[in-house]
Amino acid sequence: MSIIKYDYHMHTPLCGHAEGTPEEYVQHAIKMGLTEIGFSDHAPFVKGPLPGVCMNEDQLPTYIDMIDDVRKKYKDQISIKIALEADYIPGYEENTLAIIQSFNYDYIIGSVHFIGDWAFDDPGDVASWSNQDINQVYRDYYSLVRQSAESGLFDIIGHCDLVKKFGHRPTEDMTEEIIKTAETFARTSMAIEINTAGLRKKVNEMYPAIDALRIYREHNIPLTFGSDAHQPHEVGQDFNQALDLAKKAGYTEHVIFNQGLMTDKIKL
Ligand code: ZN
Ligand code: FE
Ligand code: FE
Ligand code: ZN
Repeated sequence: MSIIKYDYHMHTPLCGHAEGTPEEYVQHAIKMGLTEIGFSDHAPFVKGPLPGVCMNEDQLPTYIDMIDDVRKKYKDQISIKIALEADYIPGYEENTLAIIQSFNYDYIIGSVHFIGDWAFDDPGDVASWSNQDINQVYRDYYSLVRQSAESGLFDIIGHCDLVKKFGHRPTEDMTEEIIKTAETFARTSMAIEINTAGLRKKVNEMYPAIDALRIYREHNIPLTFGSDAHQPHEVGQDFNQALDLAKKAGYTEHVIFNQGLMTDKIKL
């Protein structure tokens, strides 16, 4: 029985809403039998400080030092990548580029958490959903995800159906949106992730859903795995289910990154 040994999505307390030291994440990863992890904390927000959501720009050196410290300390036990999860904010591409080029990150996860100024995945603001046309929210979301891929800023698209997080479901079929999105990912050489954090949210399923994942597979979109851990014990969580999902969708391998390049394929 194979297991997934690579977790490419986890956070640190610098973002203001994750708990535990990087060392605790690393120790849990080792306990889970992982061979490689990547820290991908929330990059500084490009429109100005966003305490409790993203680290501040002046914390980036601390972030890099912190991860580099555990990387050295545990180098004989586990490989550790330094990455970021950066928000995609249209119109701020150059500011985003400046942040992600400030260091030679192993990979950048690009995530859509905002539609306009609305943080649609904010648990403190679920009430805002009640004023929305859910079909339109889904279309706007996928359109932004495609734009984020087109921006060329990112290596991996984060949780590529996050819009379902609180269980709001469209009444119209979104298959065409997903196919267009898959075509965009293929053209722009994006990878995606199976992100298990959705299992810990109201929607209670991984990102992306099986039907979407099959479409991405048909378009040969490379795959990574991420727990999106915000606490040490979440590292590698539910990776058995993630492996099942990947195989059900027809995936036979996942990819890994080094210093901004997709360097290897690992058999599932
Ligand atoms: Zn977070
Ligand atoms: Fe995210
Ligand atoms: Fe995350
Ligand atoms: Zn995330």
